[in-house]
Amino acid sequence: MAKYEEHRAAPMADVSSSPWVDGPTLATELPHRGIIDRLSDFLDGELSESECREVERHLGKCPECQEALASLKQTVELVRSLPLFGAPPGATQRIIQKVRQT
Ligand SMILES: [Zn+2]
Repeated sequence: MAKYEEHRAAPMADVSSSPWVDGPTLATELPHRGIIDRLSDFLDGELSESECREVERHLGKCPECQEALASLKQTVELVRSLPLFGAPPGATQRIIQKVRQT
């Protein structure tokens, strides 16, 4: 008798939600990539207050950029902890270029 349980379709993690699809209503906002471009400046505190807020707002709803920021932060901290590099100007910029290529 009651064998319903056996083939109950377990809903898997929802993979359809993507940060790329939240665009149309936010036409005035920078696209996703524009944010990633600014993460290094964001970390360095080189963005203006309004730009900073824009990035934070995007980060608040974009897990992908949050992740990018977290890994960038880690990488930057690692680089800065290496006496060899001594955090030369533009290092963050180069790192982010490298990250984006991978
Ligand atoms: Zn994003």
